Amino acid sequence: MITYKDLANYIFQDVNETIEDLEKRFPQRTLPLNAEVTRFAPSPTGFLHLGSLFTSLVACKVAHDTNGVFYIRLEDTDTKREIEGSGEQLITQLEHFGVIPDEGYLGNSEKGIYGPYVQSKRAHIYRVCIKYLMEQGRAYPCFCSHEQIEEIRAVQEAMKVVPGYYGEYAMCRNISPEEALNRIKAGEKYVIRFRSLGNHNDKVTFHDLIRGDISIAQNDLDVVIMKSDGLPTYHFAHAVDDHFMRTTTVLRGEEWIASVPIHLELFKALNFPLPNYAHLPVIMKLDNGNRRKLSKRKDPEASVAHFIEEGFPKESLKAYLMSIANSNFEEWTTINHSFDIDEFKFSFDKMSLDGVLFDQDKLNYFSKEIIASFTANDFYHRLVEWSKEYDKTLYEHIVSNEEYVTKILNIERGGEKARKDFVCYKEVYPIIGFFFKDRYLDIVKDGYPFNENMDKKVIKDILNDFMESNDYSLPNDLWFNSVKELGKRHNFAESNKIYKQNKDMYLGHVGDVAEMIRIALVGAKNSPNLHSVLQILGKEEVNNRIKLAIEYLG
Ligand code: GLU
Repeated sequence: MITYKDLANYIFQDVNETIEDLEKRFPQRTLPLNAEVTRFAPSPTGFLHLGSLFTSLVACKVAHDTNGVFYIRLEDTDTKREIEGSGEQLITQLEHFGVIPDEGYLGNSEKGIYGPYVQSKRAHIYRVCIKYLMEQGRAYPCFCSHEQIEEIRAVQEAMKVVPGYYGEYAMCRNISPEEALNRIKAGEKYVIRFRSLGNHNDKVTFHDLIRGDISIAQNDLDVVIMKSDGLPTYHFAHAVDDHFMRTTTVLRGEEWIASVPIHLELFKALNFPLPNYAHLPVIMKLDNGNRRKLSKRKDPEASVAHFIEEGFPKESLKAYLMSIANSNFEEWTTINHSFDIDEFKFSFDKMSLDGVLFDQDKLNYFSKEIIASFTANDFYHRLVEWSKEYDKTLYEHIVSNEEYVTKILNIERGGEKARKDFVCYKEVYPIIGFFFKDRYLDIVKDGYPFNENMDKKVIKDILNDFMESNDYSLPNDLWFNSVKELGKRHNFAESNKIYKQNKDMYLGHVGDVAEMIRIALVGAKNSPNLHSVLQILGKEEVNNRIKLAIEYLG
């Protein structure tokens, strides 16, 4: 009589190793007590999703906080969905955010003794384990065609029973090993399924480090573990890889909770101890009042590349993601005057349980604070690097002008009242562009936004007076006093308050005077500190610009 053992020996003729051999080949790691081995396991199906950066950042942090190991495994068994080059790109983007694996898949190479770290190269390892399950009668070949599976589903729908390949609906589960062997020998195509012993009406409980104990219906599905192309499915590969790579905690998105019963049964059937699980909240978005997952198709912010292109410093995105991970992070940043997530003590209990809404304002807040904390010099070099790739205009203006641009970036930088006007690097050129002559001329070519109710002659008189009287050597407060004096000479009150008390006596107040000067120099009503603008432009350029504005006024 043909047994499952015979069947396994036939299907896996090439397999000489046993699970015991694998246990020896991939020994337990020698790490300090409580050290965590975590992993990030992306599929090479496109760009790095914000949620994946979140997961990888937390996994990396957990491993490094405990002197453990963080590794990357490429889950490329779904060859149909694979996008060429995306594995390498994921690694480059992770590197950009300082998520550097200690071991595993590194793009074009890999490092570590628990590999290969690319699933498509691990077929021989999965085969050892599937052979074992088949020998035990816990795995069997399934010859059902796509059409047959559809038929089963239609019947289940009509009968209003839970859909899936299980129990009486698992047509191939009772095929004898002998018949299976004959059909395989005859060249019939097949997949290999797991034989579940579970009952959907009973519950199984597992512990989640974030959510506590979770009770959920047992698995009763005979899931596919090896596809017809010889590669495993996610469920099976997860059990085998996380066991033999000696993962201590599996960190992944909460969308996997529903699959845990399958994983529990697989680990048990393989006699593997369970890893810890931590299912992280998914990043969502409000759409017409409804929460939904950030979508690759609809939301630019789903892609990490979007934030790199916009020029959000990597620290900003990391700080933002850490504020999602731990609700006390934001408070910690204020107390410690630091946004460095490496200094922060992460904890699973401070993590939100439900999907979190993507909050652009919060990200902008972190980003403004972080950019404001750079030295002008650091900011300059970051801008050069970023603009080289993403903003040619800015790049051309700043690359050979280090001293000038650093002075510009230094305006109101540092100290208690530091200016916090930049959210991302993309905003830099629109804000500081006027400092460059060509941009200034471009801004003013269609006119200046002077107050239309103000007599042009008055504006010209003020500008002329300014050209003659302005003293560049005065510090900010004395300089502002001189602007007040200038205003008074032209019948403008020295403060808004005085003007308001007696509007009939004045043409306006010192604020109006400063605005005229600003508009002439900048071409807009807003700019960084006017005194600094004057200092940086210098007398000659200031006078050239004022003359141009006077000319415009006619
Ligand atoms: N390859 C799976 C994914 O991209 C990984 C899930 C896991 O981390 O286990 O969703």
